[in-house]
Amino acid sequence: MIDATELTLLKNALDKLAEGYSELPEFSTEFDAGAVADVLQEVATRMHDNFPYYHPQYAGQMLKPPHPIARIAYAMSLWVNPNNHALDGGRASSAMEKECVIELGKMFGWDAPLGHLTGGGTMANLEALWVAGRLHPGKRIVASEQSHYTHSRISDVLGLPFSPVAVTGDGRMDVDALKVLLRDGDIGTVVATIGNTGLGGVDPLTELIALQSEYDFRIHADAAYGGYFGLAGNLRADTRAAYDSLAAVDSIVIDPHKHGLQPYGCGCILFKDPSVGQLYKHGSPYTYFSSAELHLGEISLECSRPGASAVALWATQRLLPLVRDGDFAAMLDDCLHAARHFHEKLRGSRNFVPLMEPELDIVVYAVDAPDSRSASERARAVFANAAEHDLHLAMIELPVQLVQRYAPGIKVNSETITCLRSVLMKPEHLGWLDRIVEILERCAAGNP
Ligand SMILES: *Cc1c(COP(=O)(O)O)cnc(C)c1O
Repeated sequence: MIDATELTLLKNALDKLAEGYSELPEFSTEFDAGAVADVLQEVATRMHDNFPYYHPQYAGQMLKPPHPIARIAYAMSLWVNPNNHALDGGRASSAMEKECVIELGKMFGWDAPLGHLTGGGTMANLEALWVAGRLHPGKRIVASEQSHYTHSRISDVLGLPFSPVAVTGDGRMDVDALKVLLRDGDIGTVVATIGNTGLGGVDPLTELIALQSEYDFRIHADAAYGGYFGLAGNLRADTRAAYDSLAAVDSIVIDPHKHGLQPYGCGCILFKDPSVGQLYKHGSPYTYFSSAELHLGEISLECSRPGASAVALWATQRLLPLVRDGDFAAMLDDCLHAARHFHEKLRGSRNFVPLMEPELDIVVYAVDAPDSRSASERARAVFANAAEHDLHLAMIELPVQLVQRYAPGIKVNSETITCLRSVLMKPEHLGWLDRIVEILERCAAGNP
């Protein structure tokens, strides 16, 4: 799990960091190393009560280990512990944050977006919808039924009306259903989910953009999960078209702590039009005395923010630039391959019924059964059984009509069906599929 090399790299980085402060008089922090060691042993033991998220046999929720460089850079920066709220609190890390944001913007085709890192996708989406509400006061926010539940809740927090838009059989926003809502005329913002959390579906962005010639609305792209996949080389043509048109939207959210190899606490909001920065105007008397330059604390709803997140992201983007055909893009390609391969293997199974072809790297599959209620029971049994055998999956509750498209023979005696879900976001998953499928089949057969 831990590699001694990582500790050496951290020590060497810390020594280099210390050189920058060597002029100061010596001082050291006293602590009782013995007591600390005892507590740490206790903590490590308590941490056993986690699933092994870093391991390829964890094929469940959206969990991916940070890259070693992110872990090391983050840890190293804690000895300074910068605060990117204001330049007084983190000059170097604020500069790194701005550079990271520019690189992320470039990935979407924007040269000079306004943006910053956030605690995660939720805070980033909150800022996007807050700006949307300021620009279209009182107007409705809409997002697909498979969009993240955060959008309806954030709309509630902001006091904005919200409506879900139906999805088609592949889990993407149904454009005809959206048109019906648009005719009512009170829609200010359409949220396009670029990689929905449940199924990995990408909303048909080009069609949404086309509707802007008829109706006046903003588009916010929630690419918290899927944002990086524009770098991949093997997207389906319609998915590719959605990514290629991202530059036309008004705001984008991406989570470096999902597919960007970062520890938790790293989301990002980007606005195409930097003039929305004036909406953030406030009159803090406490901060901002060290620079006349507009800085991150002036364009963020969160105040104190970890400079460590920016340091870790900067180091990662330096090592693995956000370019097509690079090493980072190759990892995304491996994830896409793994998902397609897994889907194909499940199609050949008598125990499982894979649903839609994975658009990104999320595979959803029902367990074969004569009726919908027993399919749910079997899915829960396989889930529990697999965990006993160190294969960790996730579950998703889906409307029965959606599952029926892929399992037409199933008798309906419930409104929803519990399905299994595997987010194959580690490139290593590709090499572990045979083993994963083998465990799955044994668990489904009931005699593992
Ligand atoms: C994860 C996710 C969110 C929420 O982001 P957090 O980082 O968990 O706060 C929002 N939208 C989508 C599409 C997501 O996948």
